Amino acid sequence: MNKEKQSVIILGSGPAGYTAAIYTARANLEPTMIQGQQPGGQLTTTTEVENFPGFAEGIQGPDLMEEMRKQSERFGTKMISSWVNKVDLSKRPFKLFTDSEEYQCESLIIATGATARTLGLPRESELMGFGLSTCATCDGAFFRDQEIIVIGGGDSACEEASFLTKFGSRVRIVLRRDEFRASKIMIDRVMKNPKIEIVYNMNLIELLGDKKAGITGGVFENTQTKEKETLECSAIFYAIGHTPNTDIFKEYLDMDENGYLITAPESTRTKVEGVFACGDAKDHVYRQAITAAGSGCMAAIEAERFLAENE
Ligand code: NDP
Repeated sequence: MNKEKQSVIILGSGPAGYTAAIYTARANLEPTMIQGQQPGGQLTTTTEVENFPGFAEGIQGPDLMEEMRKQSERFGTKMISSWVNKVDLSKRPFKLFTDSEEYQCESLIIATGATARTLGLPRESELMGFGLSTCATCDGAFFRDQEIIVIGGGDSACEEASFLTKFGSRVRIVLRRDEFRASKIMIDRVMKNPKIEIVYNMNLIELLGDKKAGITGGVFENTQTKEKETLECSAIFYAIGHTPNTDIFKEYLDMDENGYLITAPESTRTKVEGVFACGDAKDHVYRQAITAAGSGCMAAIEAERFLAENE
């Protein structure tokens, strides 16, 4: 058991968590970061990041996260490579439990992120970042004048498809049902877009391509006739939803119906004093590295103020 009490613990190691670490460390709060199962978070699964300010030529996702980790450590953030599976936020100090350890803290910054849903097809992890993507904003620009397929029928799929028409020669949205889940306004928008085609009742069952050539297409199965069809393309974007990694906080914190943490307006404060939430765990609207980093900074400043007031 590690019962030594920390002033601030940051849970999660994406852009939100690292930014919170840099700020709290520079405020001499000696933060501890518990990195979670995927140190570096979602950006470690992408290749080139072109929209994070400060890198005129772009930077590889894993390299960006490595720089953020080093910057956090430079100011004294203590890194713990572990996974918290239970919390007790009923009173301070808050308690965090891993399989073998218990940690205590006076303030907690939740930056546990969200996980893009995938289909679980063979070779998904191999091809992720090589034509297969879960983020149009991140990767769309790599497919100028090429054929793009978007999987999903919700608002995200519609939004991503509309965005991708800036780049692709044609964007096909493939739905597993004969109707969208998206809101009417989003459906109208995709229906009116001459670059978008809708394919109904098809499930993607196989990814075609390899790391060298990238994605070259997908094999789809018609849900009604069970016939298989190959659709060629240079990129497949999954837009079948995200799951915020917030299950362990259910008992203590407010969340919306999809599990995103709810914070006070223009703040990272949750309903438990001393607990702050930032990044994708609370944001299903923007979901960008830079907005996550911004909210990580807010959480750090709010935690610092909270600790100063409650010393
Ligand atoms: P949703 O859960 O709303 O939609 C997911 C879509 O993916 C559905 O069409 C679903 O199909 C499909 N899907 C799920 N699993 C599979 C699968 N295994 N194979 C094929 N298709 C699958 O997620 P979104 O990310 O679209 O939206 C999440 C929330 O964020 C919503 O509340 C949405 O309104 C909101 N949002 C709002 C935006 C805006 O207002 N601008 C933009 C983006 C999101 P099926 O319908 O058959 O279940």
